[in-house]
Amino acid sequence: MLEQLTELHPQMIEIRRHFHMNPELSFKEEKTPAHIAEYLEKLGNVEVRRNVGGRGVVGIIKGKNPGKTVALRADFDALELQDEKDVPYKSQVPGVMHACAHDGHAAALMGVANVLSKNTDSFDGEVRLIFQHAEESAPGGAIAMIEDGCLDGVDAIFGTHITSRMPVGIYGYRSGYLMASADKFIINIQGKGGHGAAPHETVDAIVVAANLILNLQTIVSRRVNPMAQAVISVGKVEAGGAFNVIADTAKVMGTVRTFDTAVQDVIIENMEMVVKGCCDAAGATYTLSYEKGYPAVKNHKAETEMAAESLAKIAGKQSLVELEPLMGGEDFSYYLEKVPGSFLYAGGGNAEKGINHPHHHPKFDIDEDSLLFSSKGMLAIALDFLRA
Ligand code: MN
Repeated sequence: MLEQLTELHPQMIEIRRHFHMNPELSFKEEKTPAHIAEYLEKLGNVEVRRNVGGRGVVGIIKGKNPGKTVALRADFDALELQDEKDVPYKSQVPGVMHACAHDGHAAALMGVANVLSKNTDSFDGEVRLIFQHAEESAPGGAIAMIEDGCLDGVDAIFGTHITSRMPVGIYGYRSGYLMASADKFIINIQGKGGHGAAPHETVDAIVVAANLILNLQTIVSRRVNPMAQAVISVGKVEAGGAFNVIADTAKVMGTVRTFDTAVQDVIIENMEMVVKGCCDAAGATYTLSYEKGYPAVKNHKAETEMAAESLAKIAGKQSLVELEPLMGGEDFSYYLEKVPGSFLYAGGGNAEKGINHPHHHPKFDIDEDSLLFSSKGMLAIALDFLRA
């Protein structure tokens, strides 16, 4: 069955380029899910559900006899970014771009659907194809699709992210924590403005913010167990209007990344203490809003080992690497909280072809050989899981 994907490779490239030229932002996807659903419907042997959890599409393909159910997931949303590549398939939508390979994920899974739909006599059980909207923007599409039943009856789930960080031909796997939780915080400091020459009559919100930003870093260095991983990054500060005026307000925004929820709790608790302490000491007041984002992606051991074995069988052991945990976030975590499974990486970079820009970069691209490579991996894993 895997070889039939080779025949479909040109079609997967065509589909990926179509999506690449017509990207749609998270929670605004219309044409992309319609295109996917129409494609699946035309295949035959696929039960198609549209508007799952909002804009998601689910394809159900049943084999010869009843058996286990394995889910495969691909996301399909794009990013708010101007495509700066000089290629014929460049984005046609100003300011919107597939810069995280989700176009490739969808195209590869459509290839898998095509092959499965033509071979329903060759496997038992069910393959559930989850085409998910809105991965890039919290609260994400996964949670709504799960609430809408996309995982009902599913025994295990697998997903593959194509990445330019690894060369095409390499699969990455990891059991346990793979990706971090991604939270957002906003601190509004209220001081008292005044003349730059008379600081004693003011409460300088910029000085409070400066103190606070440095003190936030001591949470990671002094409060979190050194054996655990955590990141606090302030990415945006807004304050002041003129060089000689003391600012009355300051806004500090940032992100927190952790794996362990106990560490996340330590940070939330200490952040409140640091902000309160810095503001109280200066006579300022504040509001702190902390939004939890996607939980950490924690791969299940048995399913990860099984997937790695399937990949080694089709591509050889030398094409597998065990990944280090990444501090990026992914809403695949929600699926893994409900059913066992594993989130994997498939190499899509190619330095010789100049395809090595990082994700979310205006020149991001993938080597399209990764479509074949990752679809073969997904299909092999699904079939092995159903057989086991
Ligand atoms: Mn992504």
